[in-house]
Amino acid sequence: MTEVDISQTLAASRSRLERALHSAGRPSSAAALLAVSKTKPASMMREAYHHGQRDFGENYLQEALDKQEALSDLDQLVWHFIGPLQSNKTRRIAERFDWVHSLDRLKTARRLSEHRPADMPPLNVCIQVNVSDESSKSGVPLSELDALVADIMVLPGLRLRGLMAIPYPTDDIAKQRQPFALLRQALESLAARYPQAALDTLSMGMSGDLEAAISEGATWVRLGTAIFGERPKPSVEIA
Ligand SMILES: *Cc1c(COP(=O)(O)O)cnc(C)c1O
Repeated sequence: MTEVDISQTLAASRSRLERALHSAGRPSSAAALLAVSKTKPASMMREAYHHGQRDFGENYLQEALDKQEALSDLDQLVWHFIGPLQSNKTRRIAERFDWVHSLDRLKTARRLSEHRPADMPPLNVCIQVNVSDESSKSGVPLSELDALVADIMVLPGLRLRGLMAIPYPTDDIAKQRQPFALLRQALESLAARYPQAALDTLSMGMSGDLEAAISEGATWVRLGTAIFGERPKPSVEIA
């Protein structure tokens, strides 16, 4: 694996985000970087931490728990679970994470809520929406979103913050924007229906489509490769 200078990639990612926000006419505080550290060692995360990064996204529970252990001396780390959710893992996710971005079933939502310790604030969650239909198996279809939201809203251990998507990758920026626009419209209509809820989050945009996501209103951009470098090719890609 090639050496990655985290201070440099992090600074470059921050200015890339800054430029994208600026050209979208949005304030610098309107979106933040989620550093996606899956498959990368805790030592690289520690390096990012020393350069000011606090929010980290992980896809695999055991790997994340190992890194939490290795980084337990660091204050103010914020852990985001962004990978596929399995029912048998909800307890530890509810106990050990601050956010879950990939909620797409009522059953897992109920389990996360049940397992969230009473002495912790409600778990921040985003519902993952399938905005490019046939190409992705994860995420709730837009047609089923309203029903799922209504059921999740009443769960005491969860705080629904917004929506997340991983659209089918394309290099065409106009095509990149379409699914992000759909997600934004879906959030806007939910926010109008639930004015009391803090529906303020659009988790969308990765290393290859940050600019398109920011122009459609992303509030978290999830950057892996741009910060930590290429990952070894997985046998099964998470989509
Ligand atoms: C891996 C991953 C990312 C980061 O992807 P990059 O293209 O490396 O920036 C973002 N979101 C999710 C859900 C991921 O699994």
